[in-house]
Amino acid sequence: MVKPMSSNVAERKLHSHSLDTGMSDGLPIAPHTQILVLNNSYEPINITNWKRAIVLLLKEKAQALSNRVIRLVNYIRIPYAKIVAATPTRAMIYKRDNNKCQYCGSTRSLTIDHVIPRSKGGQDTWDNLVVACASCNVKKGDKLLEQTNMTLARKPFTPYNKVQFTLSYSEVPEWREFLFV
Ligand SMILES: [Zn+2]
Repeated sequence: MVKPMSSNVAERKLHSHSLDTGMSDGLPIAPHTQILVLNNSYEPINITNWKRAIVLLLKEKAQALSNRVIRLVNYIRIPYAKIVAATPTRAMIYKRDNNKCQYCGSTRSLTIDHVIPRSKGGQDTWDNLVVACASCNVKKGDKLLEQTNMTLARKPFTPYNKVQFTLSYSEVPEWREFLFV
């Protein structure tokens, strides 16, 4: 059982963190902001509010890497099913496919294509949705891939970690370096 930290100790810890990071406002992380939580492996696992982040720092369960990023001291295992969105949003598909038509590489007039058409039982799943330009989408139409002479640049896949997608829309520059850890 870990003894709860007295508030004095907690304040000193905050202060020493602030010295370490050169922050002048006395906090190791930016108050009133969202904080990126990295696993011990630097893999992004969560985005939390600053108060929760402070608690993790005070309990010495995390260390501040910058004023918008903390890293867990211990590696935590996260069940795969919990971190991956079962149904991807359109934005997630665009991001995964790098805003490029997966048939011809075009970056213009993009839409989402069902590799196995909906009419043939294709679902809105990670492995059945790809970015396609309007002309490839029309060309492929209601056919199966095998019935066309078209090929996919890359087999559509279920991403490893949905936080990566959140990061990719974020405007916090210091989060971006952890996008594809
Ligand atoms: Zn295309």
